[in-house]
This record gives sequence, structure tokens and C-alpha cells, in this order.
Amino acid sequence: MTEELAYERFRKLRWPDTEGAPVCPACGSHEHWTLVENRKWKCQRKDCRIQFTVTSRTIFSSRKMAYRDLLAAIALTVNGVLGTAAGRMIREMGFAYKTAFVLAHKLREAMSIDYDQQLEGVVEIDGAFIGNRRHRLPNRRVDDDEAFEAWKKKNPKVTTSIVAIRERTHDDPERRPKVRMFHVPKEGDGVPIARRIVKRGTVMHADEGTQWGPLEMYFDTKRIDHSKSYSDGIACTNGVESVFSRLRCGERGVYRYFTKAYAERYGWEMAWREEYRRVDNGSQVDILIGSALRSRTSRMAGYWQRHKPANDLFDPIAA
Ligand SMILES: [Zn+2]
Repeated sequence: MTEELAYERFRKLRWPDTEGAPVCPACGSHEHWTLVENRKWKCQRKDCRIQFTVTSRTIFSSRKMAYRDLLAAIALTVNGVLGTAAGRMIREMGFAYKTAFVLAHKLREAMSIDYDQQLEGVVEIDGAFIGNRRHRLPNRRVDDDEAFEAWKKKNPKVTTSIVAIRERTHDDPERRPKVRMFHVPKEGDGVPIARRIVKRGTVMHADEGTQWGPLEMYFDTKRIDHSKSYSDGIACTNGVESVFSRLRCGERGVYRYFTKAYAERYGWEMAWREEYRRVDNGSQVDILIGSALRSRTSRMAGYWQRHKPANDLFDPIAA
């Protein structure tokens, strides 16, 4: 694909309502002057008059790379079913490490853009430990719960949790079931999150863990005792388990391990991959670019200049 075609694709995804004709990001005006240099426009509204490009006031606002490279990097990202390591981006795209790292995290932010939407229908919730190389357990078996519990007791401060909340398939096949992940200090912190993002009156499925008890005050809650079975015809959390399976595979096979500081971002990524798994690659690229162009300026902007971790700066629900 040529640079010109890639650029046109970005324009159409930024301004779908006008089929790519520029709209001022500050005032929404359609009147503008075209500036010759560098694909820029200037707003004609008297009290505005800002200059803007197709990426102004989006996650890509300080973009320096060619649109074609950006497009190729996004295609590479969506094609990694379990994630795409920064190292792979460096080799295949010829990027510097910092470029690959920042771009990957910006795309993860874009993947969380719809986190203010409400979940409904039938919804499953569960939690999993993250952030500390679970594959380094004494006997290296991740499914040995007893060993893991013993290890956790010895290392109480090193584990945190990822909570996954997932809609079951809707009756209407056109509706894509939403998948969400959040990084929390302990699983029980998933309850207030569920109260924020799951519609009242929704049927929720959770396992027998005591941390999910409070859900019963707010939702019609079905519980499944995993020591007896995984599905008893009444309750079942296999949907969220498969999200965790993807997370674990990515953790062991692609990213090696998720640092605590970025655990939430990997969660957004894996939730997004699960949610869009049946969407073809080309559409995934367009959806991700569209989300990135709807995202306000990234928390990762100037990351390497600031020398500060981006951890905890970004709350997708509050955003
Ligand atoms: Zn304007």
C-alpha cells in the first residue's frame, strides 16, 4: 500500500461522517483553509483558527512515522492472536525499542476506549492472579492450585489480580458480546467495578469464592462451585475462564510476564482480542485505528521524556 492510500484510510476513519473531509477537532467546523505544507488545515471560524492534521488531538498526535508504517504496525499488532511482542515489532518494522513500546501501549489505550459502556444480558465475572510469573511456581505447574495457594501465603505482597467481566452471546447475533478486564489489588475489588459497568437487573454468574458474595445484593447472581463441577446447568463461568486462558497463553508465550505496572494494559489488550476474535483482520485494523483516532491525547505521550511510569495514570472508566 502506498503512503497516499494509507493516509486516505486514516482520514476516512477519523471523519467517517464526512467520508474523510476535515472537521476541526476544536470547534467541529467544516470550514477550513488547506495549508500547502504537510497535510494541514486551518479552521476558518473566527474565534478558533487552529491548525490541525488528521491525527491532531488523538493518541497519534505526536506521530512522526509514515502512515504506511503506522498502518503496517497496527496490522502486525492485530495479527498476533495472543499479543505482539515489542521485540517482534522491532525486527519486522525496524522500529527503535522506545517507538515499539510506546506505540504498543497507545494501542492498548485505544482498545479500552469503550469501557464506559454498560454490560447487559447474562454476564460472567471471575478473577485471576497476575504480575508475578506464575509459571515460576515451585513445581512449574500452573494448574496445581494447592502449590499455588502455599506459594501465595509465603509471598502475600507480590500478587495482584485481574478481574474479567464478560457478556454471554446475545440472542441478537448482530450484537458482539463485550469483554472487559481490570487490574485490582484483590478479586473482591471487582464487585464495585461490576456495579459501575453492569446494568442493574442483569443476571450474573460467579464461582463460589466468598469475594463474590456481595454481588448477590445488586444482581440476580448464580453461583457455581468449582470443586464440584464447571457447569451444573444453573451457573457457569467458562466464558471468563477462556479469557483468562488467552491471557495466560499470552503471558507465557508472547510477553514472558506482565509487570504489575502494566498489567491492566495487557488486560485491556487480551479482552479486546477476545471480544473481536471473530472479526476479520482487515476490519480489526480499521476498528483499532478508529478507536485510536477517537482517543484523546495518550498518557504515553512524552513518556520517555518524563521518565515516569505511566502506571495508574489512566482510568478508562473515568476518562
Ligand atoms: Zn475550529
